[in-house]
Amino acid sequence: MTDRYAVFGNPIGHSKSPFIHRSFAAQFDDDMSYEAVEAPQDGFRSRLDQFISEGGRGINITVPFKTDAFAAADERCEGAALTGASNCLKFENGRIIAENFDGVGLLRDIADNLGQAVSGKRVLFLGAGGATRGAALPILRAGAAQVVVANRTVAKAQAIADELTRFGEIRATGYDSLSAGHDIVLNATSASLFDTRPQVADAVFEGTGLAYDLVYAKGLTGFLRQAQGMGVPVLADGVGMLVEQAAEAYAWWREQRPDTAALIRDLTVPLV
Ligand code: NDP
Repeated sequence: MTDRYAVFGNPIGHSKSPFIHRSFAAQFDDDMSYEAVEAPQDGFRSRLDQFISEGGRGINITVPFKTDAFAAADERCEGAALTGASNCLKFENGRIIAENFDGVGLLRDIADNLGQAVSGKRVLFLGAGGATRGAALPILRAGAAQVVVANRTVAKAQAIADELTRFGEIRATGYDSLSAGHDIVLNATSASLFDTRPQVADAVFEGTGLAYDLVYAKGLTGFLRQAQGMGVPVLADGVGMLVEQAAEAYAWWREQRPDTAALIRDLTVPLV
């Protein structure tokens, strides 16, 4: 019988997950289906139960349901437990198991695809939402010398720093207190979705080797344009992260990891 998977979100029409997972399945001639489910804003759990009762094996989760997915789980793997959010569920023996692969996906893209070492680097996250929550720990674990989380609302950055301080050197700040000296600058705000950018000073990019906007399919965002203007040599958007987190999910469900390089090339929008 064909194994059923899906991505749950609202809205969901824009999601690239069905295309990505069907491409992965084709690599292995894997007998699985993958659909997009637009769950009602207040109806994630009942739509999830319906999908499971119909024989579903697992789902990805996007905005706004990552915390609902976390809450629905019977078991939470570390990536989900430490972030309070889940972007991937699997259903086994009547139990719902939650993971979160956003952070691992980002790390793989930076280290493997862009060839940028994280070990020993000073890494700045702009934004303190779900994406930073998921990504800061894998970056610390990869040996970052220091992680700084800067956010408009400093209390949210501080909460992340407080939770992760036992894993390494991490601190929180507001945009006004930022100075130069970050090897890697990540835009993990949703500002680029609204065609704006986090209001940080140009000096923040002095000495930076990589500027990475987690948003994808937006071309040269205001954040990347600012970094380019400051001479940052490597610019990237989040398409690699998107494909890599999907590959992690696929491997977790299907016990084989797909190749990602060709798919990332296909989905890349030029940074112009
Ligand atoms: P959240 O909604 O959880 O957090 C949004 C963050 O953006 C908050 O820190 C908020 O600050 C900040 N923010 C919003 N607007 C502005 C602005 N105009 N200026 C400065 N800061 C702003 O979002 P997520 O963490 O889930 O997602 C963040 C980004 O990462 C999005 O662009 C999303 O598309 C991308 N993403 C990409 C993925 C990928 O696979 N490539 C996976 C997951 C996310 P405040 O707290 O002050 O309101």
